[in-house]
Amino acid sequence: MKCRRCRQEAEVALPSHTTGFCRECFFLYFRRQIERAIKKHGMFGPQDKILVALSGGKDSLALMYELADQGYDVTGLHVYLGIGRSSEQARHLVESFCAKHGFKLMIADMPAEGLAIPEVKECISRPICSVCGKIKRHYFNRIALEHGFTALATGHNLDDEVARLFANTLRWDAAYLSDQGPTLSEDSGFARKVKPLYRLTEFETAAYSFLRGIDYGVDPCPYSSGASFTSHKALWETLEEKSPGSKIHFYDGFLKSGRKAFQSLERESGVELSPCGECGSPTSGEICGVCLVRRRVQARRQNQSETEIEP
Ligand code: SF4
Ligand code: ZN
Repeated sequence: MKCRRCRQEAEVALPSHTTGFCRECFFLYFRRQIERAIKKHGMFGPQDKILVALSGGKDSLALMYELADQGYDVTGLHVYLGIGRSSEQARHLVESFCAKHGFKLMIADMPAEGLAIPEVKECISRPICSVCGKIKRHYFNRIALEHGFTALATGHNLDDEVARLFANTLRWDAAYLSDQGPTLSEDSGFARKVKPLYRLTEFETAAYSFLRGIDYGVDPCPYSSGASFTSHKALWETLEEKSPGSKIHFYDGFLKSGRKAFQSLERESGVELSPCGECGSPTSGEICGVCLVRRRVQARRQNQSETEIEP
């Protein structure tokens, strides 16, 4: 296969575009997709201070590399979850990556915050991933606001976004559907959230990271098995193979025609938010969900230590 742009030998084949690129033209294609996303959805400009959520996976590291390469003012934020080997590996990858390229990095340490995920798991009846996701989003938002960042960028790619949209659609979950998109504007208590990789597939971010020599995390989290997103992604892979371009058409179509309807539905049933009595984050109750989880962890520790000193 020849490169679509320069006609040299292609190194990356892109089935969704029924085309391929040589290495340099692929980098250019990757950059153009991000530039297009930033511009079309008013994500940020050169004056913005951007906090990039770094998990240690290919997407977030590729995003950080590319935004820095485009000259944006970026700082990485890694939320260390305390999940044994997988968290150690993720933290190590992020720290080495940032040190190698001279990127600024902040670490939010969940065990030090009283929220080590294995402990949290013992205190809740819900699936751990929903609570873990909530904790990560809570710290991304809090740190972005406390440190004056004007945008919070995450490495969600097209496959992530399509799988999430599909799951929300299967449940016709108006609250989540109204809140899904490449840019969520800042609001009182919430930082602006952006997803510059939303036009690029998982395969494309993996190819980019590989060709750039980025060392990214491959060990899956021990709690990740059975997540419904994994089966939804497999389903969309089949659809994409049969009909290239299905993913981006589904997602773009939602942004163009569906999202506004769900947003107006949600505005009608708007929930009042006020600052959490413990951490100040916006919540519909007196104490936010994350502070409530922390209280449960503390109560469990207390119970355990009392049991231990009983004769
Ligand atoms: Fe957290 Fe679940 Fe992801 Fe593990 S798989 S890091 S528990 S959200
Ligand atoms: Zn709180």
